Amino acid sequence: MQAFQAEDRASEPQRARPEARLGGTTNCGTGATRADREPRTARGPVVRARYAPRPVSCEFRLASGQEGWQILTPDSGNRAHETAGQRLTFTGKDAARKEKNMLTEKKRLIEKDPKLKPDDLIVIGGAGGFIGGALARYFAKKGFKRIRAADKKPLPEWYQRVPGVECLNLDLSVEDNCQRACAGAVEVYNLAADMGGMGFIERFRVECLRSVLINTHMIEAAYRAGARRYFYSSSACAYNTTLQQDPKVRALKESDAYPAMAERGYGWEKLISEMFCEEYWAERGLKTAIARFHNVYGPWGTWDGGREKAPAAICRKVIAALDTGKHTINIWGDGTPTRSFMYIDDCVKGIDMIMHCDDLIATPINLGTSELVTVNELVSKVERIAGVKLKREYDLTAPRGVAGRNSDNTFIKKMLKWEPNTPLDTGLRATYKWIQQQYAARKAGKRVVD
Ligand code: NAD
Repeated sequence: MQAFQAEDRASEPQRARPEARLGGTTNCGTGATRADREPRTARGPVVRARYAPRPVSCEFRLASGQEGWQILTPDSGNRAHETAGQRLTFTGKDAARKEKNMLTEKKRLIEKDPKLKPDDLIVIGGAGGFIGGALARYFAKKGFKRIRAADKKPLPEWYQRVPGVECLNLDLSVEDNCQRACAGAVEVYNLAADMGGMGFIERFRVECLRSVLINTHMIEAAYRAGARRYFYSSSACAYNTTLQQDPKVRALKESDAYPAMAERGYGWEKLISEMFCEEYWAERGLKTAIARFHNVYGPWGTWDGGREKAPAAICRKVIAALDTGKHTINIWGDGTPTRSFMYIDDCVKGIDMIMHCDDLIATPINLGTSELVTVNELVSKVERIAGVKLKREYDLTAPRGVAGRNSDNTFIKKMLKWEPNTPLDTGLRATYKWIQQQYAARKAGKRVVD
């Protein structure tokens, strides 16, 4: 394997480096840049780590069925990518040995970060929404004092406003706004996207695709600001849809994204944004983390208005049936599609673990549960919580998405010795209770999340 060549590239002409164009500083406010923190010479900041070739790890599955790990160390001409295929030949015992060697080698090559300090600036994009808001709360609870949250929604419409968190109303599809948001950041989490449940992503594919602007500008702004790490929230919708045509689906593992046939619009945006994260690490040395979320649910999530997902929608419909006394429930599709659902607490914990795992840099990984249920089973669970049995009406014209989707957690268990583990019944109970309160608050004319 080619050795780490940071020093070689340090002598490259300055034209190759964005810092050089910017004169070693960002043009985005007062935050210290990575260049500011690095040693200076008479010719200006030393930026040797920026464009040095870095190793990037990936999983692979060959047409022959062989699977394994590869760490690519591109040289200046990206030649390692061209030769990678020749090295992807090990199987059985040999595979295990090589994988172990590669992991050992990868650890050696990655610079160790200093421990994140409580006053290091954490930036969260999309923090006015469900997962971003929960993440802001999670870090605040962990004792981080400088959290900057940004979202394009006006502040009164944010799902959660966490005390002590700086909240900015910014459209992050605009480059300048991303620079404003990321100035001085040590870590950046991009949870901003125009998204929703199946009804939304099937109807608004252009809106979903346009989220590529958010990640494109956020990762560049994070890089220019000298952020140490960057997190991207990908999705199980990035997986090849032809593998998801049966409710008794084989769980999806990370290598199933390629050959690519992602969900139209939303899934393709996720794939290309993942690639940005992989290449910012490979080419520019920004440590990136990529989690493919599988259906997240819980309190403070969208529960009405068209963007809600199945667990919240079913809780709301059951609550409405009880409230109106009309004991029927309208179910999208025929009730047979299968999915797994991850509770929000597992999601934010997983984000933290994935972001800070050096073995997962620039490596997409599933973040979801492997507890597969049909839509019908999901309805039965909510009915049991509510203590009611409703007449089911199936709407076969409604959007329904793929027939089955589950998360294969082999990789996350191996890498983190952990997987999302809140039982669906437990998470649903908390979610149902919260939506009940929201429903009552809305009925009383109060402002609610939707
Ligand atoms: P959400 O809709 O609750 O939050 C997303 C937030 O991004 C919203 O508050 C929205 O206003 C904001 N946003 C959209 N465009 C923006 C822009 N141009 N500038 C600034 N903010 C903008 O969604 P969520 O469930 O919290 O999802 C967060 C991330 O996780 C998204 O990237 C989503 O694709 C991904 N994801 C979520 C799920 C899930 O089940 N919730 C599953 C897979 C992936």
